[in-house]
Amino acid sequence: MTKNDSIKPNNFIHQIIDEDLRQGLNGGQVITRFPPEPNGYLHIGHAKSICLNFGTALKYGGECNLRFDDTNPEKESQEYIDSIISDVRWLGFEWAGEVRYSSDYFDQLHEWAIYLIEQGKAYVDSLSAHEMREYRGSLTEPGKNSPYRDRSVEENLELFQRMKEGKFAEGECALRAKIDMASPNINMRDPVIYRIRHAHHHQSGDKWCIYPSYDFTHGQSDALEGVTHSICTLEFEDHRPLYEWFIANLPVPAQPKQYEFARLNLNYTVTSKRKLKFLVDEGAVNGWNDPRMPTISGLRRRGYTPASIRNFCDMIGVTRSNGVVDMGMLEAAIREDLDSNAPRAMCVIDPLKLTITNMPEGEVEWFELPAHPKDEAMGVRKVPFTRNLLIEREDFAEVPPKKWKRLAPGEAVRLRGGYVVRCEEVIRDAQGEIVELQASFDPATKGANPTDYKPNGVIHWVSAEQSVACEVRAYDRLFTEANPDGDKERDFHQFINPESLTLFPHARAEIGLKHAAVESRYQFERQGYFCVDPDSTEEQLVFNKTVGLRDSWAKIQSK
Ligand code: ATP
Ligand code: MG
Repeated sequence: MTKNDSIKPNNFIHQIIDEDLRQGLNGGQVITRFPPEPNGYLHIGHAKSICLNFGTALKYGGECNLRFDDTNPEKESQEYIDSIISDVRWLGFEWAGEVRYSSDYFDQLHEWAIYLIEQGKAYVDSLSAHEMREYRGSLTEPGKNSPYRDRSVEENLELFQRMKEGKFAEGECALRAKIDMASPNINMRDPVIYRIRHAHHHQSGDKWCIYPSYDFTHGQSDALEGVTHSICTLEFEDHRPLYEWFIANLPVPAQPKQYEFARLNLNYTVTSKRKLKFLVDEGAVNGWNDPRMPTISGLRRRGYTPASIRNFCDMIGVTRSNGVVDMGMLEAAIREDLDSNAPRAMCVIDPLKLTITNMPEGEVEWFELPAHPKDEAMGVRKVPFTRNLLIEREDFAEVPPKKWKRLAPGEAVRLRGGYVVRCEEVIRDAQGEIVELQASFDPATKGANPTDYKPNGVIHWVSAEQSVACEVRAYDRLFTEANPDGDKERDFHQFINPESLTLFPHARAEIGLKHAAVESRYQFERQGYFCVDPDSTEEQLVFNKTVGLRDSWAKIQSK
């Protein structure tokens, strides 16, 4: 992406940066970072943070780092790291230099912990986790000092060394910053900065059995990287005084500042790696990149483009007020992109045989249709017209309702891009189910309207033999409730939509799609936008329905 692509409307963070630049702060530099914890796949909420951090760096000619915030080895993995790297790149962003890891700074953080002990600003506490919680107080009551708070510097240094050497069990003791147990901000009540974890780390291996806390890691890592504007979500607002305390009390090489913005919440889904992991682990979805998931890899598989996600993030803007964004906005963003950029094709999703009785068996007539009605540069596609065709089952009604615009006994419709046909015969099987229609085509109607009658409308179709076998996967909302997280009594699991996936295994698409590549996207005329799934084989293409042509779902809801 270039700088020009990233000239965005000014948000409040950009106003702060403009002012910093006017005052000549940070040597005129803007350095940001995107700091995911590798404990799951990225979701649409992260896309907002990615667009903000990388977009801001681009806008100001600065740099954005990708740094894994990897201080919880038990919950993290290389799989998550790889997926995050690939998702950020796919969204169109590139970080400055190498991928970074907070664990790269474990040596430095350990030295700084010792520095705080030496300054009398940190101590080893031997209270149990339970006691520590009791001593911490509450929102309305101040905390109490731990009986271990006044250990000597020497004793603390020795105990911390023994913690590092693995001489204690998990939970036996922890290193705490000595700040203020009576602070109205609970984060300032002697927060734990190092805890014991006898765990293997995906980056540092078995080197450490003590790990720094998030708070002790984040700001210092920012300082080490020269980050100027450390942008995070509002739940970290209460941590800001602690962030600043560490920066002020440690010999850090730079003075980063933290700014908070509102997280993105989308209705009918959840945006929390932890909750998305439940869905994966329980098999409620088929993996992190299931097209129903709000993960970046799920959206990608569903057919979303990087540009549509970036545009969506621009549309929703960056503010400090929490709200819920309608899923319809995300869908509008991809619809707009694909309307301009996806080639058109025909696909019959739920087929019904249509035999053209006056077309001889074995004969083929090729029609030429534009690949895109508004973009000639996309060229043309060739569609074979043969005796045995398929149409959409729902495009035929034996007893048509009023104003029926499709096929019915004795009625005529135009086959998209081809002739007008008239239905003459309805054929049923032994169970009475309609299995075939017979019709004749009107040779005078190629590219011309009949003069003596009026066809009902236009329907899509494919040749039965000269077409490609597909499975179409159609999706509905993952949850039945707009705010699946919002019910205090009932867990979000209860709102999982049992009908979020519908399979159409007998679909057929026009022959030109035979070699369609994975991830290529089409508008299936009259149906919506579809994307080729990696499950496709030589024998059968698999298409995911990205989104319908119009927001039909909103209409159903408002009825
Ligand atoms: P989750 O709860 O999904 O794990 P997180 O905040 O713990 O989210 P991190 O990996 O720590 O996930 O997040 C990396 C960055 O992305 C952080 O700066 C975080 O503030 C931001 N972020 C996470 N979720 C959202 C969201 N819904 N909207 C905007 N930014 C988000
Ligand atoms: Mg987190």
